[in-house]
Amino acid sequence: MNWRKLKAITPLYGSLLYLIIGGLWVLFSDRVLEMLIVDYHLRLILHTAKGCAFVGITAFLIYGLMVYAIRSLKQSEQALYRSYMELEATHEELLATEEELKQQFQEVQEREAYYRGVYEGISSGILVHDGSGQLIHANESACDLLRINRKDLVLYPQYDEEPLTQYRIDKDIFIGGELLERLAQEESSNPPLLIEVLVKDERPTWLSTHTDHLVRKLTGQKEMITTLVNRTEEKMMEIYGNIINEVDQMVLKGISLVDIEQRICDRFVSHAGFSFVCIGFKEENESVSFRAHAGILDIEHLPTRWDDSDFGQGAVGRAIRLGSPQAISIEGSPYYKAWSKYLKEKNIQSVAAFPLIHEEKVFGAFALYSPLPHFFGPMQMSFFEHFSFQLALLFTQAKAQEKLKENEARYREILEHMSNAVAVYDVTGDGEDFIFKEFNSAAERIEQCSRDKVLGNSIRTLFPYAEKLGLLTVFKRVWQTGESEQLSSSYEENEFQLWRENFIYKLPSGEIVALYRDITHKKQAEKLIWHQAHHDALTGLPNRLLFNEHLQYALAQAKRKKEQCAVLFLDLDRFKFINDTLGHTDGDILLQMVAKRLRQSLREGDIIARQGGDEFLILLSELDQERNAAVVAEKLLHSFSTPFQLEANEVFVSPSIGISIYPTDGDTLETLVKHADAAMYHAKELGRNNYQFFRKELHVKFHQRLALENNLRKGLEQKEFLLHYQPLVNLSSGKVVGVEALIRWQIPERGLVSPGLFIPIAEETGLIVPMGEHVLRSACLQSLAWQRNDAPPCRIAVNISARQFREPYFVETIQKILEETGMDPKCLELEITESAAMDYKDSSLQQLRRLKEYGIRIAIDDFGTGYSSLNSLRMLPIDILKIDQSFVREIGRDRNGEAVLRTIIHLAKDLQLKVIAEGVETQEQFDFLKKEQCDEMQGYLFSKPLPPKEVEKYF
Ligand code: C2E
Ligand code: MG
Ligand code: MG
Repeated sequence: MNWRKLKAITPLYGSLLYLIIGGLWVLFSDRVLEMLIVDYHLRLILHTAKGCAFVGITAFLIYGLMVYAIRSLKQSEQALYRSYMELEATHEELLATEEELKQQFQEVQEREAYYRGVYEGISSGILVHDGSGQLIHANESACDLLRINRKDLVLYPQYDEEPLTQYRIDKDIFIGGELLERLAQEESSNPPLLIEVLVKDERPTWLSTHTDHLVRKLTGQKEMITTLVNRTEEKMMEIYGNIINEVDQMVLKGISLVDIEQRICDRFVSHAGFSFVCIGFKEENESVSFRAHAGILDIEHLPTRWDDSDFGQGAVGRAIRLGSPQAISIEGSPYYKAWSKYLKEKNIQSVAAFPLIHEEKVFGAFALYSPLPHFFGPMQMSFFEHFSFQLALLFTQAKAQEKLKENEARYREILEHMSNAVAVYDVTGDGEDFIFKEFNSAAERIEQCSRDKVLGNSIRTLFPYAEKLGLLTVFKRVWQTGESEQLSSSYEENEFQLWRENFIYKLPSGEIVALYRDITHKKQAEKLIWHQAHHDALTGLPNRLLFNEHLQYALAQAKRKKEQCAVLFLDLDRFKFINDTLGHTDGDILLQMVAKRLRQSLREGDIIARQGGDEFLILLSELDQERNAAVVAEKLLHSFSTPFQLEANEVFVSPSIGISIYPTDGDTLETLVKHADAAMYHAKELGRNNYQFFRKELHVKFHQRLALENNLRKGLEQKEFLLHYQPLVNLSSGKVVGVEALIRWQIPERGLVSPGLFIPIAEETGLIVPMGEHVLRSACLQSLAWQRNDAPPCRIAVNISARQFREPYFVETIQKILEETGMDPKCLELEITESAAMDYKDSSLQQLRRLKEYGIRIAIDDFGTGYSSLNSLRMLPIDILKIDQSFVREIGRDRNGEAVLRTIIHLAKDLQLKVIAEGVETQEQFDFLKKEQCDEMQGYLFSKPLPPKEVEKYF
């Protein structure tokens, strides 16, 4: 049986069911029994049994029901009890929750009050709005910051007058709720927006805003929360910062201090909202002068001092006097009595002044006047204190700068006038390149590059040769070590040559300075001079000096290697004669050709030098055996076997060669050359055109010659030279018309030596030049002495050697001697050989003309011995022709000779020349000459050359 279904039977249904079943049983069971059981008793028994069964079943059912009911009751009671207990617990819980809720509510209330307090009390403003310009809520700070009533924060507020407050975002202006509408456009992620709050007649303030969007959960309404933060101080600092930057830039641009000061004042007034800003300077007389000021105040109304008087009580005076920052609010301040009325009129509410200090001394003050009361808070004060410190620094810097500029101008001046080039370089990070920072005009000249082109550029790119000169390496080293260096370097490429002398050092700033000069010309000149000093100008061969260097080196080598070497002394035979006859021009050409031929006959390593005149020196180093020197000598001799082709003539010339060998004939340069020379003389003595090795005996001879040369020199110093005079006789009158001065050497032990012996040596050695001057001077003095004694004639002839005549200042020397002695040039005749007169045609012509213009007469001496024709004499400005004795000797001996002499005399007379015959010894000669109308004569027939005293008897 399903008890659950039974449980569903309600007592009513149960009772009705029992009623129906019981009723049906009562109604029908008896009837059924009666129908079935006829027996009464049985029926009765059955009736009773039936009744008993009914009662029993009913009792059983009642019992069951009761048991069930009681059990159910019990269960219900238990359940009820449990429910009760549960209820009891729940009740307890509810009570606790209620308590908690109460507490929480109180807390919430407290917190709300707190947050409201915060909300209303925080300095940041908070606006809650719906974005359409409608304000939902705003805290007090928001209203304060926005300078507006809550009620006015609506879209299109109604104003009777122009609204007091406006808001500027970028360049757009908003009023009232327009601002909220604008703020609603901002995304949460946008950076803060800056609002400038503009209130009429007040300093602007700046707010930064940030707007958050949110949606109400319950209502779904959109709201915006905007926070506002006062950024005025920061903005002010930014403005101040900009002013400082501007000042810095002005300093960098080199703008004058006065302009910078004025700009500072202007900027603080126009950009930072100050009414007046000034910079005052402490004056000696305790007053304050304002060098720069800007703003609404008139300086006339602000007499200021820094003493203790009423006018010294303002912020400026106090700041200067006390040396500390001063901030004063004007309203009710005892310090501003002197100016209070004026400042009130101008609505100045607060003033701050900051001392300007340099080296612990106050020299002025920077002052700012604000329309706001108590404007100078700690931040402002600290800023302006710092600013004033910078300002003071600026003044001192500017002063220093001015001095620096002065110094720089001076330094530039010096730099520009320096003869040395100066370049200053900045070093690139790695020290690999150097950038021009300075470049003076000397450097411009040397590099041929203008300063503008150079500055800022690198030396490496601009002047590639700097690296080749080794400059960059030295620059780097100087840069790294800091040690200055001197560098002399050169660079050559093809024709391009560069020499530089550099002094390089490092400045404390790290820059590199190069002081340099270009010595290219000097070096080239030196090189040229070296070349000239070491080479012979005529032949281009090395000269004696260079030969000596080579020989010295060769000797050292030979000594070390135990080798031999040879010196060959080569002299051309009879060159003097060739030179005199052909003229020096051809003589020179011949020498050049000889030099070339000699060079060609030698090996590459052999050295050939021109010793002078017609002498050559040859060095054969690393000589295996003496014989090889002979081979070379033979080769050289052989090279002369063919004639030399001059322009007009073919000339044969031969050499004489002397050879000395190291170490046999000497181990020094001097001895080897000397001995080769001696050997050469020996070769000459042996008939020329041969070579000779040095032998000991030659030494003596050679020394004799050398001794003569030395004695000549000494004799000149000791005035051993004197003059004899030979009369010049007029052939027709037989009278002495002049004298020829002829030199004599009076050697103490030896007596008189005739010129034929020493003149050639004097010519070779050049001694003839001082000797000739001595002769001329003595002759002039003698002539003047005779003139003083009224001893006619005044004509005096002096011999001039070719070498003398070629001296560069020959004419000047003659003039000088004449002027010194006081000799009349008209009384002087100079005798020049025809070859000397004909040589170097143009220049000798020039010389002769100058002498003639000066009044001196010119005679051609020894005429007929040279090659010149009478015709060529035509060109020369000469006066006298002296016919050589060789022609005179022919008189009475050879008819042809006489004919030649006669022709010479007549032709010379045709050329308007005076003719003098030399060396007339016989009467026959005299008569012939007289007959042929020769003008004058000179010779032993009349007189030998005589000392002055003796010759006087002929006058
Ligand atoms: P010269 O200029 O032709 O001088 C004439 C020479 O002939 C002189 O020789 C003179 O003594 C010599 N003489 C003069 N009459 C006769 C004579 O009848 N018979 C002979 N046999 N000789 C005669 P000296 O004085 O020995 O001079 C020789 C040369 O030396 C001069 O030749 C001249 O060229 C040169 N000389 C002399 N003195 C000087 C001088 O002061 N300077 C220069 N540069 N050369 C000088
Ligand atoms: Mg003469
Ligand atoms: Mg002569």
